[in-house]
Amino acid sequence: ASEASAYGLQAVVEEVHARALPDGSGHLADYIPELAQVSPDAFGLAVATTDGHLCSAGDADAPFTIQSISKAFAYCIALELLGRDKVLEHVGVEPSGDAFNAIVFDPATNRPYNPMVNAGAIAVAGLIQAHAGAEAFDLVLDRLSAAAGRPLDMDDAVYRSEATTGHRNKGIAHLLRATGAIRGDADAAVDLYFRVCAIRVTAANLARMGATLANIGENPVTGRAAFAVDAVRATLSVMFTCGMYDYAGNWALDVGVPAKSGVGGGILGVVNRQLGIGTFSPRLDAKGNSARGIRAFHELAEELGLHVFDPT
Ligand code: GLU
Repeated sequence: ASEASAYGLQAVVEEVHARALPDGSGHLADYIPELAQVSPDAFGLAVATTDGHLCSAGDADAPFTIQSISKAFAYCIALELLGRDKVLEHVGVEPSGDAFNAIVFDPATNRPYNPMVNAGAIAVAGLIQAHAGAEAFDLVLDRLSAAAGRPLDMDDAVYRSEATTGHRNKGIAHLLRATGAIRGDADAAVDLYFRVCAIRVTAANLARMGATLANIGENPVTGRAAFAVDAVRATLSVMFTCGMYDYAGNWALDVGVPAKSGVGGGILGVVNRQLGIGTFSPRLDAKGNSARGIRAFHELAEELGLHVFDPT
């Protein structure tokens, strides 16, 4: 039965890819100089099931940098390493509705609003860095690789491009050091953040990583536990409310699955206990989300009835 349904799923994936392909709207991210160098036309879509199937269409094996999608995984790792209370001392869980790189903190607590905006993710990087020291990047890379079911690596040119031009993020790190959301070395924290954002993935990898989250932390193909169950539950909750920049509310209304996007052009979606979905198309809309990726998710949600509050 599962072979037959995977065959049906492949047809849907191809159909959705074909429908979203003509959408050439949006622009490449260019504030990280190296990101403006990618080919704008690539478009990949992949769906992985929690019983180990993968269906894909288009450029599902084209590499790109994970960027902000890493924020979800880094948060999951920090929760597991340090526990929820400790992480909550440093970063909240309230949607801010602000742009990803906003310099705003919750006035009541001086913490970043949530771990899906840059300030929150840099605070999370600070926690992992303080906990794991020189091993921090390898620890994160190992967990993301376990989630994908294959060894991932870092795009050195994108890392260096952001590390030499990312003054706003460096400024945020130092502000966090001043408010106490980072208590260790602010420069090391933001360096870890830049490295993790430069981890290279494909749409197929993202789908597998999403299926690992959907499978409450265990990779469905390898059987390896990448993340702890409680941490996955909390991460999916925050992705649902905060994962799509200042489009999160519209996304919840229309697509209705936990998701995270990145300025590298990727979007990761998770259908709890069922599917991971990965899209890649580097042209971004005005809110910084992949334009074709958004379109593909809308179509897929409709075709497959993915919305968490669908009646059937
Ligand atoms: N590394 C990027 C930054 O911090 C990630 C942004 C994103 O994907 O939203 O600016």
